[in-house]
Amino acid sequence: VRAMSSEVEKAQAAASGADSGAPTIFDKIISKEIPAQVIYEDDQALAFRDISPQGPVHFLVIPKVRNGLTGLSKATEEHKPLLGHLLYVAAQVAKQEGLAKGYRVTINDGPDGSQSVYHLHLHIIGGRQMTAPFG
Ligand code: AMP
Repeated sequence: VRAMSSEVEKAQAAASGADSGAPTIFDKIISKEIPAQVIYEDDQALAFRDISPQGPVHFLVIPKVRNGLTGLSKATEEHKPLLGHLLYVAAQVAKQEGLAKGYRVTINDGPDGSQSVYHLHLHIIGGRQMTAPFG
């Protein structure tokens, strides 16, 4: 319960700067300024392992150019092809990671969604049985 409330606090704090357009830690990962375990990259998308994995496999898929997509709720018509691409990349990398028995894809949006990094990202978590889906 303590961990949960601190996670919520962090998300609420992050939300206060959400629409500032300020760079996030993911920009530094994209520019290779800080290291990440990148497992897939193409012209539009990057996939790398989450630093705090919630399962044997936990990676994030992000657009390399944020272009206003601080979160899913900011999606506009122009983002539709990119959104499709990110989901497709998630599936391909999940396969590459050996998640033949399945996995979960999650997008946290905004304070109520406990979003902490305001650069759109898909979480892909697998390698274990997922339970209690919506905490
Ligand atoms: P969210 O709460 O949906 O905004 O998720 C942000 C995710 O980014 C969390 O699961 C963090 O563990 C992860 N994260 C934060 N910093 C890094 C980093 N430097 N490298 C990899 N993952 C990170």
